[in-house]
Amino acid sequence: MKAAVLYESPGTLHIEDVTIDDPAPHEVLVQVKATGLCHSDLHYLEASYPMDAATVLGHEASGVIQAVGGEVSGFNAGDHVISYPLGFCGHCKWCLSGRLTLCDQVPLRRPPGSPPRLRLSRDGSELLQYAGLSTFAEQMLVHENALVKIDDDIPFDRAALVGCAVPTGVGAVIRTAKVPPGATVAVVGCGGIGLNVVQGAVIAGAERIIGIDINDGKLALAKEFGATDVINNSNGDAVAQLADLLPGEGGVDYSFESVGTRSTYELAFELIHRGGTTTVIGVVYGKFELEMHDVLQERRIQGSTMGSINLRKDLPYLLNLYKAGRLNLDRLVSKQIPLEEINEGYAAISDGNIARSVVVFG
Ligand SMILES: [Zn+2]
Ligand SMILES: [Zn+2]
Repeated sequence: MKAAVLYESPGTLHIEDVTIDDPAPHEVLVQVKATGLCHSDLHYLEASYPMDAATVLGHEASGVIQAVGGEVSGFNAGDHVISYPLGFCGHCKWCLSGRLTLCDQVPLRRPPGSPPRLRLSRDGSELLQYAGLSTFAEQMLVHENALVKIDDDIPFDRAALVGCAVPTGVGAVIRTAKVPPGATVAVVGCGGIGLNVVQGAVIAGAERIIGIDINDGKLALAKEFGATDVINNSNGDAVAQLADLLPGEGGVDYSFESVGTRSTYELAFELIHRGGTTTVIGVVYGKFELEMHDVLQERRIQGSTMGSINLRKDLPYLLNLYKAGRLNLDRLVSKQIPLEEINEGYAAISDGNIARSVVVFG
């Protein structure tokens, strides 16, 4: 089957014939129908994250089950599914307390030597599976706990985005931060994740939703997704502009960071007033400083791992919101491309008019 392989980082993806194994116990073979171009994969293409060996990237997909291994329960050939980068074990303390995205016992990869076959290989050499999924391929072989069954009438390109971007953004608002109706919300970064933070704030019933970005195209999209106000921060005065929008408030109740840089973490924290909460989503390593007095005044900062969702409960919920016209997936899919154009798709990822490009398979 065809897959997009990354051999060196920084580098580009090579479309090649790759060998995929048959399902072992608890594994499912899926024919991939659509997969989104998420920013997280770009970090490997650009070498901002380390890459150990040749890897098939991609972690946001929908498809149809072709075969199930032994001991798989609840899935059959022909089922439509979406994948999720964080599976769950179902028996650790995180899973048992409902915090599935914190589970660190997930058996997403085959244990070394057992079974003595490779899920993905080329000419006998192993190809690593990104997030235990590797969705930039015609097929994926994954653990059953990384899949969610969906209704057959949901378009595959829309469904794929519910495998990462949508639950990460919407979940950060409704599950991690639990934003109440009437709140004021600021969203730093209005790309694929930030737009979903904006629509999560709409679902939560926020009164003011302020989108912040340095790209006017992305700000226009944020308005389409429900932002009540937008701030172009290209001159770096977002805090002053926010004070003009909310005079006397001292900031917002809730801010969200969806870029993944130290400066945007700092900005998001500066945007909240006393007692406010900042939720950071963008992935970044390193340190940043907090003013202790700000913390004493009950300003909080917290992370959100993939929206703190329960995949089996929340992904179908999000798709039901889509069917009811309350979640905008249609506008999120800006462009459909074939697998062969994936490098061009990534080159265009910072284009302000593109929310998400999706690779679709025939
Ligand atoms: Zn992603
Ligand atoms: Zn667990």
